[in-house]
Amino acid sequence: MLRTIEQHVREQVAPAALRSEFRQHEFENSRRFCQLIFCVSITIWLVFDLIVSYLGGQGFTWLSGAFMATMCCLTVILGFTRKSHHFDVLNLLFVAVITLGMRLLIEGIPIALRPLWLVLGTSTVLYSVSVLPVRRWSFFCAMAITWAMLNPFFSTNINLDDLEAAMLLSYAVFLSGLVIYSYLRIRQAKLYNFYMSKVLLDQAYVDVLTEIPNRRSFMAKAERQLQDAPAGQYLAMIDIDNFKKVNDRFGHDIGDEVLKRVAVHIKASMGGYEFARLGGEEFVIFFKGLDQAGAERQVTALCTRVREDISEHPVTISIGLAQVDSADTLTMALVKADQALYEAKHSGKDRFVLWTSRLADSA
Ligand code: GH3
Ligand code: MG
Ligand code: MG
Repeated sequence: MLRTIEQHVREQVAPAALRSEFRQHEFENSRRFCQLIFCVSITIWLVFDLIVSYLGGQGFTWLSGAFMATMCCLTVILGFTRKSHHFDVLNLLFVAVITLGMRLLIEGIPIALRPLWLVLGTSTVLYSVSVLPVRRWSFFCAMAITWAMLNPFFSTNINLDDLEAAMLLSYAVFLSGLVIYSYLRIRQAKLYNFYMSKVLLDQAYVDVLTEIPNRRSFMAKAERQLQDAPAGQYLAMIDIDNFKKVNDRFGHDIGDEVLKRVAVHIKASMGGYEFARLGGEEFVIFFKGLDQAGAERQVTALCTRVREDISEHPVTISIGLAQVDSADTLTMALVKADQALYEAKHSGKDRFVLWTSRLADSA
């Protein structure tokens, strides 16, 4: 089963909307990690700056202060950044500032040591960028900026025809290849995982036949809405009348079509509320924010809509409406709506009945 879903995911993973949703999701999940990477980078840069400034006898200048301040500002801005495409640009700015700062630091050490430290700096920056949630263009721009700023052949004593130059060049190619490969592979794997969880979540929370939310989805969402809303919300339980006869007379497939049609009516008219197929031929709606008159108007309109749907296999529906008291849990409210529905069935069907305590006593 997992293999089948995996295969489906691999075939479907390309849509642009899905990719952009994934990028945003990934950025939101790893914003703190990005801040950590920025802070650690600033700390490492500061330690090196202090070593070069004091042990290297350069003196800590205003320029170091300016670099520190800029990088700290970018880290603060990251704290307020909410969109992944803003982070793509912010990260490029950070890479540009820190690599320029590194270049100036390395310019302050003996010339023979510079190539080694330039390559070490490049590896560190490239590795860090490869694990951040940035888009491909931003990643490759960061790579270009890093190699341009920390080019080990610029302002060093390496001649291009030296053995050391050949070794450095091969290492640069190897390092870039490795970083590009791991960046692309990790992103692809994360994208598959994201899509897989979406597919599995959809399957767990959507009713396969009617393609509207299922009971599990309703219980989770309505429970949350019930906690947020004041007491006195309304809940409706819907049941198709004489549905067994439809199945018996026309067959199960036609029964399924009728179920889908009723679901379409509910979906079309109850878009602003939580609704679901509870199971069998029963549906439920949670009217958050509606008073009694509003809820009654909605269920009356739904009964009329289903009744007046001219089709080959017309059906009607009965509805039990219940107010959720402050002491009620969602399950208790569903029991009340079910009692009202029972009354609607026994008083002639094709109607709604509002729950009263009398119905509880007679149940
Ligand atoms: P009432 O008006 O009192 O509600 O009568 P009814 O015939 O609708 O009620 P009953 O509970 O006796 O019948 C429900 C039927 O729904 C029985 C079952 O076979 C059928 N059913 C449940 N789930 C499905 C489904 O997914 N597809 C189809 N086609 N039928 C289903
Ligand atoms: Mg039923
Ligand atoms: Mg029924």
